[in-house]
Amino acid sequence: MEEVVVAKFGGSSLADSKQFTKVKDIVTSDKRRRYIVPSAPGKRSGDDHKITDLLYMCYQLASHGINFDEVYSIISKRYEDICSDLELDLDIKEILTDIKYKIQEGATRDYTASRGEYLNALILSEYLGFEFVDAKDLIVLDKGDKLDLEKTKKNVASTLADIPYAVIPGFYGANEEGHIITFSRGGSDITGSIIASGVDAVLYENWTDVSGFYMADPRIVDNPRHIDTITYRELRELSYMGAPVLHEESIFPIKSAEIPINIKNTNRPEDPGTMIVSESAPINHLETITGIAGKKDFTVISIEKTRMNEDKGFFRKLVSVLESNDVSIEHMPSSIDSISLIVSSSEINSKLDKVIEEIRIYCKPDSITTYPEMALIAVVGRGMINTKGTSAKIFTALANNGVNIRMITQGSSELNIIIGIKNKDFDKAISAIYEAYK
Ligand code: ADP
Ligand code: ASP
Ligand code: MG
Repeated sequence: MEEVVVAKFGGSSLADSKQFTKVKDIVTSDKRRRYIVPSAPGKRSGDDHKITDLLYMCYQLASHGINFDEVYSIISKRYEDICSDLELDLDIKEILTDIKYKIQEGATRDYTASRGEYLNALILSEYLGFEFVDAKDLIVLDKGDKLDLEKTKKNVASTLADIPYAVIPGFYGANEEGHIITFSRGGSDITGSIIASGVDAVLYENWTDVSGFYMADPRIVDNPRHIDTITYRELRELSYMGAPVLHEESIFPIKSAEIPINIKNTNRPEDPGTMIVSESAPINHLETITGIAGKKDFTVISIEKTRMNEDKGFFRKLVSVLESNDVSIEHMPSSIDSISLIVSSSEINSKLDKVIEEIRIYCKPDSITTYPEMALIAVVGRGMINTKGTSAKIFTALANNGVNIRMITQGSSELNIIIGIKNKDFDKAISAIYEAYK
């Protein structure tokens, strides 16, 4: 059987016509690259805008009855410039006008945002001479807007069986009623993964603007060490905890088929990038720590109650207060007489007083203290399980750099350690841990 490679190109890889020519060179240099998934055009430079952000802005204005001509004209110009630079025979103006009309007439937020990928896929298919296949006809979401992977895989396999080369827009699918539904931000990575699983690809290439995964965010640490190979689980921990390189949900569709993912750099295609592989794949090098990532803006609710373990319903009551207020718990480290709830500040902020009051009523704690503006840092590594003293080393590194630790918790899989610190210490803490392990 012929080998197939699915290649997803991120926003910066398709930000302008120059980037499109690089993408064409990459695609045509390997005949196995048959199914291509583009994002919407991203930033061309630091102060530029992502098309998706501009589309959300148009929706916001339109939904308040405010004229959005000015923002839409920036979007139109980006696409028109790409088409004219590449001398394409595509009436992009007419398509743009039609989309604008739909937004004016009350198109949904998801429909509006999805047009960034839709337009880019139309242009790229024309430029590559590949067929355009709309993601709305392949990717099925159920009533709760959750991906129906089985139906989707069947659609992808049967539709693409007769189409040898295709471009499929990233970021969205459609529900049973045919309405467009987008994934969360960065979701074109998930589309690439879905297509790879549907066509049973030998490889899923994810092309971006860095030569793979680094041990820490290159915007925080100068020249961080490159990660050559990483497992699906480590990658998920890192991306969930803030490393944006690959959407954390990209792992699910390809995990069971063990399709490897290769993160590659569109601007340096000769670099090998990072391979993301299944846990069962043999990996030679076993460093203690694979990577460090983090997220800001959490609130810690710390609850003390002497002998809380003897109050049998305590944990249930505590969790149900959060559940009834529709707040998800990120982590819940505990000791004998105390427990901390770590929740995202944006979720809890407007409900904090109510939640605390209900905890007081139902759980009768000795005391409750809240700590706002907290950040979480995850130190991830499959080698940690075999190494003593990892937490001690992290503690020392942070203390030596004057960073106060509010909490530290190790996942039961011993794949990660999570540390809670103040938002303001975020960069300092990441750099300190990196220095201790580089
Ligand atoms: P794309 O638009 O191609 O999907 P993203 O912006 O989603 O790309 O992800 C790539 C960016 O992730 C890089 O430009 C880099 O600045 C950032 N990044 C953060 N943490 C890391 C890390 N640990 N390794 C590599 N890149 C990282
Ligand atoms: N364009 C979408 C976003 O900006 C999806 C993606 O880039 O993957 O979030
Ligand atoms: Mg991305």
